[in-house]
Amino acid sequence: MAAKTDYYDILGISREASQEEIKSAYRKQAMKYHPDRNQGNKEAEEKFKEVAEAYEVLSNPDKRQRYDRFGHEGVRGGGGGYDFQHFDLADALRIFMEEGFGMGGFGDLFGGRSSGRRGPRQERGRDLQALLPLSLEEIASGVTKKIKIAKQIACQTCGGSGHKAGSKPKTCPTCQGAGEVRQVSQTIFGQFVNVNTCPQCRGEGKVITDPCPTCRGEGRDRGEETVEVEIPAGVVTGNFLTVPNKGNAGPRGGPDGDLHVVINEKEHPIFVRHGNDIIYDLYASFPDLALGAEVEIPTLAVQEGNRHLPSENPDRYQKVKIQIPPGTQPGKVFRLRGKGIPELHSYHKGDLLVQVKVWVPTRLEPGEKKLLKELAESENFIPPKKEKGFFQKFKEALNI
Ligand SMILES: [Zn+2]
Ligand SMILES: [Zn+2]
Repeated sequence: MAAKTDYYDILGISREASQEEIKSAYRKQAMKYHPDRNQGNKEAEEKFKEVAEAYEVLSNPDKRQRYDRFGHEGVRGGGGGYDFQHFDLADALRIFMEEGFGMGGFGDLFGGRSSGRRGPRQERGRDLQALLPLSLEEIASGVTKKIKIAKQIACQTCGGSGHKAGSKPKTCPTCQGAGEVRQVSQTIFGQFVNVNTCPQCRGEGKVITDPCPTCRGEGRDRGEETVEVEIPAGVVTGNFLTVPNKGNAGPRGGPDGDLHVVINEKEHPIFVRHGNDIIYDLYASFPDLALGAEVEIPTLAVQEGNRHLPSENPDRYQKVKIQIPPGTQPGKVFRLRGKGIPELHSYHKGDLLVQVKVWVPTRLEPGEKKLLKELAESENFIPPKKEKGFFQKFKEALNI
Protein backbone atom coordinates (compact mmCIF):
# COMPACT_ATOMS: atom_id res chain seq x y z
CA MET A 1 0.00 0.00 0.00
CA ALA A 2 1.29 3.45 -0.87
CA ALA A 3 2.23 5.85 1.92
CA LYS A 4 -0.78 7.75 3.15
CA THR A 5 -1.12 11.45 3.65
CA ASP A 6 -1.26 12.69 7.21
CA TYR A 7 -4.82 12.63 8.59
CA TYR A 8 -4.44 16.13 10.03
CA ASP A 9 -3.29 17.43 6.62
CA ILE A 10 -6.23 15.73 4.92
CA LEU A 11 -8.65 17.60 7.16
CA GLY A 12 -6.51 20.74 7.10
CA ILE A 13 -6.29 21.05 10.88
CA SER A 14 -3.52 21.31 13.46
CA ARG A 15 -2.46 18.41 15.64
CA GLU A 16 -4.00 20.21 18.62
CA ALA A 17 -7.42 20.54 16.97
CA SER A 18 -10.38 20.06 19.31
CA GLN A 19 -13.13 17.52 18.63
CA GLU A 20 -15.34 20.38 17.47
CA GLU A 21 -12.71 21.57 14.98
CA ILE A 22 -12.23 18.04 13.69
CA LYS A 23 -15.96 17.65 13.21
CA SER A 24 -16.37 20.97 11.47
CA ALA A 25 -13.35 20.37 9.20
CA TYR A 26 -14.69 16.95 8.25
CA ARG A 27 -18.14 18.33 7.60
CA LYS A 28 -16.81 21.01 5.28
CA GLN A 29 -14.65 18.58 3.27
CA ALA A 30 -17.25 15.82 3.17
CA MET A 31 -19.90 18.23 1.86
CA LYS A 32 -17.52 19.36 -0.85
CA TYR A 33 -16.59 15.87 -2.04
CA HIS A 34 -19.90 14.10 -1.39
CA PRO A 35 -20.71 11.77 -4.33
CA ASP A 36 -24.17 13.34 -4.65
CA ARG A 37 -22.52 16.61 -5.60
CA ASN A 38 -19.79 15.11 -7.73
CA GLN A 39 -21.59 12.59 -9.91
CA GLY A 40 -19.16 10.18 -11.52
CA ASN A 41 -16.11 12.09 -10.33
CA LYS A 42 -13.68 9.37 -9.18
CA GLU A 43 -11.23 11.85 -7.74
CA ALA A 44 -13.90 13.42 -5.53
CA GLU A 45 -14.97 9.96 -4.41
CA GLU A 46 -11.41 9.16 -3.35
CA LYS A 47 -11.25 12.45 -1.47
CA PHE A 48 -14.57 11.69 0.19
CA LYS A 49 -13.28 8.33 1.38
CA GLU A 50 -10.01 9.88 2.52
CA VAL A 51 -11.65 12.55 4.68
CA ALA A 52 -14.02 9.98 6.16
CA GLU A 53 -11.13 7.72 7.10
CA ALA A 54 -9.21 10.64 8.63
CA TYR A 55 -12.33 11.66 10.51
CA GLU A 56 -13.05 8.18 11.76
CA VAL A 57 -9.59 7.96 13.31
CA LEU A 58 -9.25 11.50 14.66
CA SER A 59 -12.77 11.73 16.09
CA ASN A 60 -12.12 8.64 18.21
CA PRO A 61 -9.85 9.68 21.12
CA ASP A 62 -8.50 6.17 21.41
CA LYS A 63 -7.59 5.86 17.74
CA ARG A 64 -6.32 9.43 17.63
CA GLN A 65 -3.91 8.77 20.48
CA ARG A 66 -2.63 5.67 18.71
CA TYR A 67 -2.28 7.58 15.47
CA ASP A 68 -0.39 10.43 17.16
CA ARG A 69 1.98 7.92 18.65
CA PHE A 70 2.52 5.47 15.84
CA GLY A 71 1.13 7.11 12.73
CA HIS A 72 -0.82 5.06 10.23
CA GLU A 73 0.78 1.91 11.60
CA GLY A 74 -0.85 2.59 14.96
CA VAL A 75 -4.37 2.59 13.67
CA ARG A 76 -3.92 -0.38 11.48
CA GLY A 77 -2.10 -2.44 14.00
CA GLY A 78 1.29 -1.01 14.94
CA GLY A 79 3.15 -2.47 12.00
CA GLY A 80 1.51 -5.83 12.43
CA GLY A 81 0.50 -5.84 8.80
CA TYR A 82 -3.20 -5.26 9.39
CA ASP A 83 -4.89 -2.92 7.07
CA PHE A 84 -7.74 -0.57 6.56
CA GLN A 85 -8.89 -2.81 3.70
CA HIS A 86 -12.52 -2.62 4.69
CA PHE A 87 -12.66 1.12 4.15
CA ASP A 88 -14.77 1.58 1.05
CA LEU A 89 -17.32 4.10 -0.18
CA ALA A 90 -20.10 2.42 1.80
CA ASP A 91 -18.11 2.98 5.02
CA ALA A 92 -17.46 6.58 4.10
CA LEU A 93 -21.15 7.16 3.44
CA ARG A 94 -22.09 5.41 6.67
CA ILE A 95 -19.82 7.72 8.67
CA PHE A 96 -21.27 10.71 6.87
CA MET A 97 -24.78 9.60 7.77
CA GLU A 98 -23.97 8.53 11.30
CA GLU A 99 -22.48 11.85 12.19
CA GLY A 100 -25.77 13.48 11.41
CA PHE A 101 -24.41 15.21 8.32
CA GLY A 102 -26.96 13.64 6.04
CA MET A 103 -27.98 16.26 3.55
CA GLY A 104 -31.10 17.98 4.74
CA GLY A 105 -31.56 15.46 7.53
CA PHE A 106 -32.42 16.26 11.12
CA GLY A 107 -28.77 16.06 12.00
CA ASP A 108 -28.14 19.07 9.83
CA LEU A 109 -30.71 21.08 11.74
CA PHE A 110 -30.04 19.99 15.26
CA GLY A 111 -26.47 18.70 15.10
CA GLY A 112 -27.57 15.48 16.74
CA ARG A 113 -26.00 12.10 16.33
CA SER A 114 -27.69 8.97 15.11
CA SER A 115 -30.71 10.75 13.67
CA GLY A 116 -28.93 10.41 10.33
CA ARG A 117 -29.01 6.63 10.51
CA ARG A 118 -31.29 5.02 8.02
CA GLY A 119 -32.54 1.52 7.74
CA PRO A 120 -31.86 -1.59 9.78
CA ARG A 121 -28.38 -2.24 11.03
CA GLN A 122 -26.66 -4.89 13.07
CA GLU A 123 -25.10 -4.69 16.47
CA ARG A 124 -21.34 -5.01 16.56
CA GLY A 125 -19.47 -7.40 18.86
CA ARG A 126 -17.55 -5.91 21.76
CA ASP A 127 -13.87 -5.02 21.49
CA LEU A 128 -11.59 -7.21 23.58
CA GLN A 129 -8.31 -6.54 25.27
CA ALA A 130 -5.49 -9.02 25.77
CA LEU A 131 -2.34 -8.47 27.80
CA LEU A 132 0.78 -9.76 26.06
CA PRO A 133 3.84 -10.31 28.26
CA LEU A 134 7.10 -9.91 26.31
CA SER A 135 10.71 -10.40 27.33
CA LEU A 136 13.26 -7.68 26.69
CA GLU A 137 14.89 -9.94 24.10
CA GLU A 138 11.61 -10.23 22.20
CA ILE A 139 11.15 -6.47 22.37
CA ALA A 140 14.67 -5.89 21.09
CA SER A 141 14.23 -8.14 18.06
CA GLY A 142 10.51 -7.86 17.38
CA VAL A 143 8.50 -11.07 17.53
CA THR A 144 5.47 -12.90 16.17
CA LYS A 145 3.23 -14.24 18.91
CA LYS A 146 0.19 -16.47 19.02
CA ILE A 147 -2.40 -15.47 21.61
CA LYS A 148 -5.32 -17.65 22.61
CA ILE A 149 -8.38 -15.49 23.18
CA ALA A 150 -11.51 -16.57 25.06
CA LYS A 151 -14.29 -14.81 23.19
CA GLN A 152 -17.74 -15.01 21.72
CA ILE A 153 -17.66 -16.74 18.37
CA ALA A 154 -20.37 -17.34 15.79
CA CYS A 155 -22.63 -20.17 16.98
CA GLN A 156 -21.55 -23.44 15.34
CA THR A 157 -25.09 -24.84 15.31
CA CYS A 158 -26.84 -22.06 13.41
CA GLY A 159 -23.80 -20.51 11.74
CA GLY A 160 -24.43 -17.25 13.59
CA SER A 161 -27.92 -16.61 12.26
CA GLY A 162 -29.60 -17.31 15.63
CA HIS A 163 -32.56 -19.17 14.15
CA LYS A 164 -33.25 -22.90 14.11
CA ALA A 165 -32.38 -24.75 10.91
CA GLY A 166 -35.35 -24.70 8.53
CA SER A 167 -36.93 -21.63 10.11
CA LYS A 168 -36.56 -18.04 9.00
CA PRO A 169 -36.51 -14.77 10.94
CA LYS A 170 -39.52 -12.63 10.20
CA THR A 171 -39.85 -8.94 9.64
CA CYS A 172 -40.10 -7.06 12.93
CA PRO A 173 -43.76 -6.18 13.57
CA THR A 174 -42.90 -3.05 15.58
CA CYS A 175 -40.83 -1.26 12.94
CA GLN A 176 -41.88 -3.23 9.85
CA GLY A 177 -38.23 -3.97 9.16
CA ALA A 178 -37.03 -0.37 9.25
CA GLY A 179 -34.98 -0.93 12.42
CA GLU A 180 -36.14 2.36 13.84
CA VAL A 181 -39.26 3.91 15.23
CA ARG A 182 -40.41 7.50 14.86
CA GLN A 183 -42.19 9.53 17.46
CA VAL A 184 -43.75 12.85 16.65
CA SER A 185 -44.16 15.33 19.48
CA GLN A 186 -45.67 18.80 19.50
CA THR A 187 -43.83 21.53 21.36
CA ILE A 188 -44.13 25.29 21.43
CA PHE A 189 -41.35 25.37 18.82
CA GLY A 190 -43.31 23.19 16.50
CA GLN A 191 -43.32 19.56 15.58
CA PHE A 192 -40.35 17.37 16.51
CA VAL A 193 -39.66 14.00 15.06
CA ASN A 194 -37.68 11.61 17.22
CA VAL A 195 -36.08 8.64 15.54
CA ASN A 196 -35.08 5.81 17.86
CA THR A 197 -33.68 2.35 17.44
CA CYS A 198 -36.53 -0.15 17.46
CA PRO A 199 -36.72 -1.72 20.94
CA GLN A 200 -38.06 -5.04 19.72
CA CYS A 201 -35.45 -5.93 17.09
CA ARG A 202 -32.67 -3.63 18.44
CA GLY A 203 -32.42 -2.06 15.01
CA GLU A 204 -31.97 -5.29 13.08
CA GLY A 205 -35.36 -5.09 11.37
CA LYS A 206 -35.96 -8.81 11.90
CA VAL A 207 -37.04 -10.95 14.82
CA ILE A 208 -36.31 -14.60 15.42
CA THR A 209 -39.43 -16.66 16.11
CA ASP A 210 -37.81 -20.07 16.30
CA PRO A 211 -34.45 -19.58 18.04
CA CYS A 212 -31.46 -21.90 17.69
CA PRO A 213 -31.35 -24.18 20.80
CA THR A 214 -27.60 -23.76 21.28
CA CYS A 215 -27.37 -19.97 21.37
CA ARG A 216 -31.04 -19.22 22.15
CA GLY A 217 -31.25 -16.83 19.23
CA GLU A 218 -28.09 -14.92 20.10
CA GLY A 219 -26.19 -16.26 17.08
CA ARG A 220 -23.00 -16.58 19.09
CA ASP A 221 -21.48 -18.78 21.70
CA ARG A 222 -18.48 -18.97 24.04
CA GLY A 223 -15.35 -20.17 22.34
CA GLU A 224 -11.75 -19.35 21.73
CA GLU A 225 -9.53 -18.30 18.88
CA THR A 226 -5.80 -18.21 18.41
CA VAL A 227 -4.68 -14.92 16.95
CA GLU A 228 -1.24 -14.30 15.54
CA VAL A 229 0.23 -10.85 16.10
CA GLU A 230 3.42 -9.39 14.77
CA ILE A 231 5.09 -7.11 17.30
CA PRO A 232 7.57 -4.58 15.94
CA ALA A 233 10.84 -4.08 17.82
CA GLY A 234 11.02 -1.28 20.37
CA VAL A 235 7.57 -1.40 21.98
CA VAL A 236 7.07 -0.43 25.63
CA THR A 237 4.60 -1.50 28.31
CA GLY A 238 1.22 0.08 27.58
CA ASN A 239 1.69 0.22 23.80
CA PHE A 240 -1.09 -1.61 22.08
CA LEU A 241 -2.00 -2.72 18.63
CA THR A 242 -5.41 -3.37 17.27
CA VAL A 243 -6.26 -6.51 15.35
CA PRO A 244 -9.46 -5.71 13.45
CA ASN A 245 -12.38 -8.11 13.69
CA LYS A 246 -10.78 -10.40 16.27
CA GLY A 247 -12.91 -9.20 19.18
CA ASN A 248 -16.29 -10.70 20.08
CA ALA A 249 -18.53 -11.80 17.24
CA GLY A 250 -21.56 -9.58 16.73
CA PRO A 251 -24.98 -11.04 17.59
CA ARG A 252 -26.81 -12.76 14.72
CA GLY A 253 -24.06 -12.23 12.19
CA GLY A 254 -23.36 -8.62 13.21
CA PRO A 255 -19.85 -7.28 12.60
CA ASP A 256 -17.04 -8.50 14.86
CA GLY A 257 -15.40 -6.22 17.42
CA ASP A 258 -11.66 -5.55 17.41
CA LEU A 259 -8.96 -7.04 19.58
CA HIS A 260 -6.54 -4.70 21.36
CA VAL A 261 -3.29 -6.36 22.30
CA VAL A 262 -1.54 -4.51 25.11
CA ILE A 263 2.19 -4.96 25.62
CA ASN A 264 3.52 -5.80 29.08
CA GLU A 265 7.29 -5.95 29.40
CA LYS A 266 8.67 -8.64 31.70
CA GLU A 267 11.55 -7.82 34.02
CA HIS A 268 14.88 -9.10 32.73
CA PRO A 269 17.21 -10.92 35.15
CA ILE A 270 20.38 -9.35 33.69
CA PHE A 271 19.52 -6.13 31.90
CA VAL A 272 17.58 -3.08 32.99
CA ARG A 273 15.86 -0.99 30.35
CA HIS A 274 16.26 2.77 30.34
CA GLY A 275 14.32 4.12 27.37
CA ASN A 276 15.98 2.50 24.36
CA ASP A 277 19.21 1.95 26.28
CA ILE A 278 19.89 -1.09 28.39
CA ILE A 279 22.02 -1.13 31.50
CA TYR A 280 24.27 -4.00 32.46
CA ASP A 281 26.01 -4.22 35.83
CA LEU A 282 29.54 -5.49 35.38
CA TYR A 283 31.00 -6.94 38.56
CA ALA A 284 34.77 -6.68 38.19
CA SER A 285 37.42 -7.76 40.64
CA PHE A 286 39.50 -5.12 42.39
CA PRO A 287 42.73 -6.31 40.68
CA ASP A 288 41.07 -6.11 37.23
CA LEU A 289 39.97 -2.54 37.90
CA ALA A 290 43.36 -1.53 39.25
CA LEU A 291 45.48 -3.26 36.60
CA GLY A 292 43.13 -3.03 33.63
CA ALA A 293 41.64 -6.05 31.90
CA GLU A 294 39.73 -7.32 28.90
CA VAL A 295 36.22 -8.43 29.88
CA GLU A 296 33.30 -9.99 28.03
CA ILE A 297 29.92 -8.29 28.16
CA PRO A 298 26.69 -10.10 27.21
CA THR A 299 24.42 -8.29 24.74
CA LEU A 300 20.68 -8.74 24.19
CA ALA A 301 21.33 -10.81 21.07
CA VAL A 302 20.87 -14.51 21.81
CA GLN A 303 23.74 -16.82 20.87
CA GLU A 304 22.41 -19.37 18.39
CA GLY A 305 22.67 -22.79 19.97
CA ASN A 306 22.39 -21.37 23.50
CA ARG A 307 18.77 -20.40 23.19
CA HIS A 308 17.83 -23.20 25.59
CA LEU A 309 19.79 -21.61 28.45
CA PRO A 310 17.72 -19.64 31.00
CA SER A 311 17.68 -15.89 30.53
CA GLU A 312 19.65 -15.30 33.75
CA ASN A 313 22.61 -17.22 32.32
CA PRO A 314 25.02 -14.77 30.58
CA ASP A 315 26.18 -17.59 28.26
CA ARG A 316 22.82 -17.37 26.53
CA TYR A 317 23.86 -14.09 24.90
CA GLN A 318 26.35 -13.01 22.27
CA LYS A 319 29.30 -11.31 23.89
CA VAL A 320 31.36 -8.25 23.09
CA LYS A 321 34.82 -7.62 24.53
CA ILE A 322 35.68 -4.34 26.20
CA GLN A 323 38.95 -3.07 27.65
CA ILE A 324 38.91 -1.80 31.21
CA PRO A 325 41.71 0.71 31.50
CA PRO A 326 43.97 0.55 34.58
CA GLY A 327 42.60 2.57 37.49
CA THR A 328 38.92 2.26 36.49
CA GLN A 329 36.65 3.37 39.31
CA PRO A 330 33.42 1.62 40.24
CA GLY A 331 30.49 3.61 38.85
CA LYS A 332 32.26 4.20 35.53
CA VAL A 333 29.90 3.63 32.61
CA PHE A 334 31.02 2.29 29.24
CA ARG A 335 28.64 3.07 26.39
CA LEU A 336 28.41 0.47 23.62
CA ARG A 337 26.67 2.28 20.79
CA GLY A 338 23.82 0.61 18.97
CA LYS A 339 23.72 -2.43 21.27
CA GLY A 340 20.46 -1.36 22.91
CA ILE A 341 16.85 -1.54 21.78
CA PRO A 342 15.67 -0.28 18.38
CA GLU A 343 13.45 2.76 18.47
CA LEU A 344 9.90 1.87 17.38
CA HIS A 345 9.48 2.30 13.60
CA SER A 346 12.97 3.72 13.19
CA TYR A 347 16.45 2.57 12.26
CA HIS A 348 17.90 4.21 15.34
CA LYS A 349 19.04 1.95 18.15
CA GLY A 350 19.76 2.65 21.79
CA ASP A 351 23.03 1.80 23.52
CA LEU A 352 24.24 -0.80 25.98
CA LEU A 353 25.52 0.93 29.11
CA VAL A 354 27.98 -1.09 31.11
CA GLN A 355 28.11 0.12 34.67
CA VAL A 356 31.21 -0.95 36.56
CA LYS A 357 30.73 -2.41 40.02
CA VAL A 358 33.41 -3.87 42.17
CA TRP A 359 33.26 -7.38 43.44
CA VAL A 360 34.44 -7.68 47.03
CA PRO A 361 35.33 -11.22 48.14
CA THR A 362 33.32 -12.46 51.10
CA ARG A 363 35.72 -15.23 52.15
CA LEU A 364 39.50 -14.79 52.51
CA GLU A 365 42.27 -17.29 53.20
CA PRO A 366 44.88 -16.25 55.83
CA GLY A 367 47.49 -15.69 53.09
CA GLU A 368 45.12 -13.41 51.15
CA LYS A 369 44.32 -11.44 54.28
CA LYS A 370 48.02 -10.86 54.88
CA LEU A 371 48.57 -9.60 51.35
CA LEU A 372 45.59 -7.23 51.51
CA LYS A 373 46.70 -5.82 54.85
CA GLU A 374 50.10 -5.06 53.41
CA LEU A 375 48.51 -3.35 50.40
CA ALA A 376 46.07 -1.37 52.57
CA GLU A 377 48.98 0.36 54.28
CA SER A 378 50.47 1.49 50.99
CA GLU A 379 49.76 5.18 50.23
CA ASN A 380 48.28 4.41 46.78
CA PHE A 381 45.53 2.44 48.45
CA ILE A 382 44.25 5.26 50.62
CA PRO A 383 41.25 6.97 48.95
CA PRO A 384 41.56 10.72 48.25
CA LYS A 385 39.29 13.00 50.28
CA LYS A 386 37.14 14.52 47.55
CA GLU A 387 35.87 12.00 45.08
CA LYS A 388 32.57 12.44 43.30
CA GLY A 389 29.93 9.99 44.44
CA PHE A 390 29.41 6.95 42.26
CA PHE A 391 25.80 7.84 41.79
CA GLN A 392 26.70 11.34 40.62
CA LYS A 393 29.12 9.88 38.07
CA PHE A 394 26.54 7.43 36.87
CA LYS A 395 24.03 10.20 36.36
CA GLU A 396 26.57 12.24 34.42
CA ALA A 397 27.40 9.31 32.20
CA LEU A 398 23.72 8.62 31.55
CA ASN A 399 22.93 12.26 31.03
CA ILE A 400 19.95 12.21 33.34
ZN1 LIG B 1 -27.14 -20.81 17.28
ZN1 LIG C 1 -38.04 -3.59 14.85
